Amino acid sequence: MESLLNELVALSVKRLLLDAMLGKLARFLRIFGYDAEYSRELDDRQLLQLAKESGRILVTRDVDLYRRALMRNIPAILITEQSLSGMVAELMKEGFSFEEQQLAQTRCPVCNTPLRQASKEEVRQNVPPASLRRYNQFYICEACGKVYWLGSHWRNIRSTLKRAHTLLERRATKSRRGKAASPSRPPVS
Ligand SMILES: [Zn+2]
Repeated sequence: MESLLNELVALSVKRLLLDAMLGKLARFLRIFGYDAEYSRELDDRQLLQLAKESGRILVTRDVDLYRRALMRNIPAILITEQSLSGMVAELMKEGFSFEEQQLAQTRCPVCNTPLRQASKEEVRQNVPPASLRRYNQFYICEACGKVYWLGSHWRNIRSTLKRAHTLLERRATKSRRGKAASPSRPPVS
C-alpha cells in the first residue's frame, strides 16, 4: 500500500477525497491545484465506495476509516494534526508539494472547479476598487461565479506554508537525534 500511495503521488495523480472533518484542508489543497473532493453529507461507507469507484486517495482524520480503506486496497492518508499548518506538513511528508507555480492549475476553494485567469475588465463588477488597483492577477470560477485574486489572504497561505516547513524541519532534526541516541540507550523492557 505504501508503494502504491507513493506511486500515485509521484505520478501527480492529485485526485483526493477528504472526510467531513477536513474542509479547511480541502480548500487549501484546491488553491494549489489539487482535485480535492470534499463532502459533509457522505457517511463512512459512502466515502469508501466513492474513493474506490473514483480512484481517489482518501484523506481522513478517522483512524477506523483509514484502516478500513487500507483493508479494501484504497490508498489512504491519515491526518493526525489539528492545525492547518500541521496537516499541510503531514501531506508534504507524503510527497505533496505546495509551490507558487501550482497556482497555474488553481481550483475554486468553494466548489473544486478549475479557475481561469480573468482580466481586470472582466472582474470589475466583483472586486473592490482598491483591490482592483492594487492587484493584477484575478481568477474566475465559471461554475459558481466567484472571483479570486492574490490579495491579503495570500499572506496567510504563505505563513501557513512557512509554519509547515518549520514543523517538518523540527521533526526531521528530532528523528535524526533519536536515531543517533538509540544505540547507547539501555533496552527498555
Ligand atoms: Zn466555484
